[in-house]
Amino acid sequence: MKITQIDHIGIAVKDLETSLKWYEDTLGLKASGTETVASQKVTTAFLPCGEGELELLVSTEPDGPIARFIEKNGEGIQHIALRVDSIDEALAALKEKGVRLIDQEPRPGAGGARIAFLHPKATGGVLLELCERK
Ligand code: ZN
Repeated sequence: MKITQIDHIGIAVKDLETSLKWYEDTLGLKASGTETVASQKVTTAFLPCGEGELELLVSTEPDGPIARFIEKNGEGIQHIALRVDSIDEALAALKEKGVRLIDQEPRPGAGGARIAFLHPKATGGVLLELCERK
C-alpha cells in the first residue's frame, strides 16, 4: 500500500452557498465546481489548496450521512482522505491486517475518484477515506 499525499479534507456544512462564499471571499480559494453524489445523498464542492483540496459536503436528504454527522457533532471536519496509488491493493493490504472497513470494495466518489472508507473505530476516531485518482 502506497499513500502518496493528503488528497482532501472533508468538511460537513449546513449551507453550501454560505460556506462556499466564506471560503472564496474570505480565504480567496476558488471552487473547482460542485457535484452531487446521489448514492451518498451529498453535494460536494472542491476547493483546491496547492497539492490538496478542501471538500465541502452538504446533505441532499435529511437522513443522509452528512445530515446525521451534523446532528451529532455540528458542522466541521468530517473526514480526511489519503490518496493511494492503488485502492485495490490498499484495501487488500488492510483486510490482511484485519482493519475494520466501512467499504469492502471501492465505490465511485466525486470527480471520478474511486474511494473507500475505513471505520473510525479502527483508526482512533478519524474517518479516513482512501482515494485513487487516475
Ligand atoms: Zn472525501
